[in-house]
Amino acid sequence: MEEKTILIIEDEPTINRIISKYFLKEGYTVLSALDGLKGLDLFHNNQVDLVCLDIMLPKVNGWEVSKSIRETSNTPIILMSALSEEEDILRGFSLKVDDYITKPFKPSVLMAKIKSIFKRIDIERQYNAIEGTFDIDGINFELATFEKSDALKELLTHDELTGVCNRRYLDFYIENLIQQSKDFNLDFGLLFVDIDYFKNVNDTYGHGVGDVVLKELSEIILHSIRNNDLIGRWGGEEFLVVIQVEEIKHLRIIAEKLRSIVSEYSFDKDNNNIHVTISIGGTMCVQGESRESLIKRADDYMYNSKNTGRDKLTIK
Ligand SMILES: [Mg+2]
Repeated sequence: MEEKTILIIEDEPTINRIISKYFLKEGYTVLSALDGLKGLDLFHNNQVDLVCLDIMLPKVNGWEVSKSIRETSNTPIILMSALSEEEDILRGFSLKVDDYITKPFKPSVLMAKIKSIFKRIDIERQYNAIEGTFDIDGINFELATFEKSDALKELLTHDELTGVCNRRYLDFYIENLIQQSKDFNLDFGLLFVDIDYFKNVNDTYGHGVGDVVLKELSEIILHSIRNNDLIGRWGGEEFLVVIQVEEIKHLRIIAEKLRSIVSEYSFDKDNNNIHVTISIGGTMCVQGESRESLIKRADDYMYNSKNTGRDKLTIK
């Protein structure tokens, strides 16, 4: 196994030392900094595979550090914070960090999160390196015969219209995440999102406008979740959003954020100002359950939101 390097930026010497020791014991290379400035310096001068980042830091705070890292790099970041208020959680999401952990925490829990992130990156790499023959909707593709197979891989994993993941990749991803949640004892939640009265948009303004709504809605959601979360188009005007949170109340905060952003958003096409709302069903994955049962439950809750007025959440 290749050796991975973790950078810890934490100003509490005791916490920094405890985590460092733990990571070293697990076989990782560890770099550590006691302030944000030194942390950024270490980041830019070393090959770092993951950053554990405190928020309250001397010199440059954690928000600024993650912003600076994200300007040039997608290296996974886990925020370690005593803050667990709604605003801070949402801020972490908007800064595209990969995960967060609330202090106080056990090093073993942090370790599980890190292993899960590395595992995800491995799986993505394997998926992208995939070779052989594929059958897509009855058509056979031989990957090796494609000189530029990147385009085909994109087609295999992404929805052509919106650019977010497609159903095939969602299935693959959720299946893997269920396995990971068993292996590492980690939790995650699923949001089933459906645009209300979408047929009316198509009927009133035409399919071109409907397509714009689907595309922009995908982007809105994509920009509101973290790197370690995933949005995909499930079909038609339905989307699945996979969120790695431990608690259902955090899933609810994210769902409410998505609902309110969309309801206030004005989709602008050919001088038409179009407003749509979404209905959301959300639930946490229960240990041992199947992908089908998880998705079905989220779908059922989404229908409950539809049946009780739309522009609503049902999170259970
Ligand atoms: Mg601190």
